[in-house]
Amino acid sequence: MAYDPNNIFAKILRGEIPCNKVYEDEHALAFHDINPQAPVHVLVIPKGEYVSMADFTASAPEELVVGFMRAVGKTAETLGLVEPGYRTLANAGANAHQEVPHLHIHIFGGKPLGPMLDRQFSN
Ligand code: AMP
Repeated sequence: MAYDPNNIFAKILRGEIPCNKVYEDEHALAFHDINPQAPVHVLVIPKGEYVSMADFTASAPEELVVGFMRAVGKTAETLGLVEPGYRTLANAGANAHQEVPHLHIHIFGGKPLGPMLDRQFSN
């Protein structure tokens, strides 16, 4: 899928629309999800035009791949989630219901999160 520079996260990165920022460095921006699905629900996005994890890891410079993953860890630490625990998730494509076509890692926390997915295939 080609990158759409008008997606909502691209607009946030360009400062065209606001976000509730948690963490930022040269490689990444982290902000609260507008429709939280846990007491803590934050999104971390790389500063670059990448649709998905496959696109990002195939095409981004190594420094950005490393910097982005470090930013995910730093964001979890900034949120105080390391000790109580948290979950990361990245949707990609139609089967995963990816809504925004700019790579983002969800960080969920703030309560016991229950099973990872629905259990119909895990018996
Ligand atoms: P996904 O289904 O993985 O693509 O998730 C997209 C996420 O982006 C959803 O959880 C939305 O609530 C969130 N979202 C959409 N627009 C915004 C926005 N302007 N600021 C913060 N989060 C947003």
